[in-house]
Amino acid sequence: MARMFINGQQADAASGETIEVRNPANGQLVDTVPKASAEDVDRAVEAAHRAFRGWADASPHSRAQLLYKAGNMIRQHIDEIAGLLTAEQGKTLRESQIEADRLAENFDFYAGLTNALRGEYVKLNEPDKYGMVIKRPLGVCGAIVPWNFPLTLMANKICPALAVGNTVVVKPASTTPLSTIRCIELINQAGLPEGVLNVITGPGGSTGEALIRHPKVRKIGFTGETGTGKRVMELAAQTVKRVTLELGGSDPCIVCDDADIDAAASAVSVGRVFNCGQACLAIKRLYVFESVYDEFVEKLLGRAGRLKVGPGTAEGVRMGPMHTSGGRQGIEDFVADAVDRGAKVIFGGQRPDGAEYESGNFYLPTVLVDVPDDARVWHEETFGPVLPIARVNDLDEAIGKANDSPYGLGSSIWTRDVAKARNGMDRLEAGYTWVNALQVAHDELPFGGTKESGYGKEHGLEVLDYYTEGKSIVVAGV
Ligand code: NAD
Repeated sequence: MARMFINGQQADAASGETIEVRNPANGQLVDTVPKASAEDVDRAVEAAHRAFRGWADASPHSRAQLLYKAGNMIRQHIDEIAGLLTAEQGKTLRESQIEADRLAENFDFYAGLTNALRGEYVKLNEPDKYGMVIKRPLGVCGAIVPWNFPLTLMANKICPALAVGNTVVVKPASTTPLSTIRCIELINQAGLPEGVLNVITGPGGSTGEALIRHPKVRKIGFTGETGTGKRVMELAAQTVKRVTLELGGSDPCIVCDDADIDAAASAVSVGRVFNCGQACLAIKRLYVFESVYDEFVEKLLGRAGRLKVGPGTAEGVRMGPMHTSGGRQGIEDFVADAVDRGAKVIFGGQRPDGAEYESGNFYLPTVLVDVPDDARVWHEETFGPVLPIARVNDLDEAIGKANDSPYGLGSSIWTRDVAKARNGMDRLEAGYTWVNALQVAHDELPFGGTKESGYGKEHGLEVLDYYTEGKSIVVAGV
């Protein structure tokens, strides 16, 4: 059994209860983890609370050194971590290695920002006094992480939180706790003082809610579904906790008549099937100008035809299984709904044939065309490898359709025309717009959705504002 990590030590649930973790490629048991109750959550939060003052008072340089060391510990164990991540999540080994590597890079990036906090000096009207605004860490931060990118989305929270002096309790999704537990052990072995970084495991509705309700937790960094995010916000309000919410998305991509069609087809195919389409930043709706539609679709299908689906550990596989059978059923329902309304499936639209696929949650990459405007795929988040494509006549129509969504996470536009690109940058309702580029988030830029896709930012220098608060000071007599 894998165990939680609380106050620098491995820990079981006080109740002795456990949860099974199963492999999405074959349904086999990978391991079990403790099912933490409110009592276990309290132990972790108390440990983090005790560790807070010492960590907050440590010099930025000493925190930076530990964060660099933590990144190196992760780097030395990439293959082991990637193996665990593929076994519990389903993604390909290559995708898992990229994710583990990104975790290490994140530690480097935020190690470089431990001394980036800045305050203000303010001249006051009373000449014998002056004012200042200083930035202080918040205290214990809870990090609640989903299953699709367990390490990346943990990194987005723990690295900035630790860099500026907070302590953290992480709660991974109950289906992907193993790689997280291992990473947190390794990060602690880099020399973090005990209690600075802890992990508890268990279901969202009990373990997650206990973390949010805990009065000594001052901030919740949450990534997950929009519906869960609303619940997190509601619960956090009871103790007026700060929240950052990174929620669902239905990212539109526009391919204009003057686009580099090869590059766009390549980015769209990667952007839709990476992580088996289970990415918040996946391209989920595609709008292609009529005059380049046939050429674009032909190139996209050529790429889809070469994509090998199979277990994440198998040689040459580019797309693993979906994470859960329920998630696959959800995608099958989306496709059935679109087809019932008149859409055509021009690629995939079913589970792959063959005995090797029978015990896993496999589904083929799927392309839908002639999809009526009222189909669910245009209005809800499709969290799997299905792409609806619509023809559009001009940019106004494309942007109008792109913005017709409750979500506003990412968006992209492919064009060589400066005016069209500017139009997309200004008018697409999203937290991020990529112009002629694959939808990938960069540490240097703030990331976070608008509308129902989120609240607050991760990444960039802006994230530091979400893990500190300003305090006003008036000084007299000195
Ligand atoms: P989810 O909301 O079901 O779960 C996310 C986490 O919250 C898990 O750890 C879960 O155990 C916990 N949780 C569930 N209910 C809870 C509750 N009542 N109180 C506290 N914690 C609770 O999401 P998921 O299915 O794991 O992840 C997929 C979703 O995440 C998709 O909607 C996707 O778009 C979104 N996502 C968003 C981003 C982003 O940066 N905006 C990134 C990745 C994923």
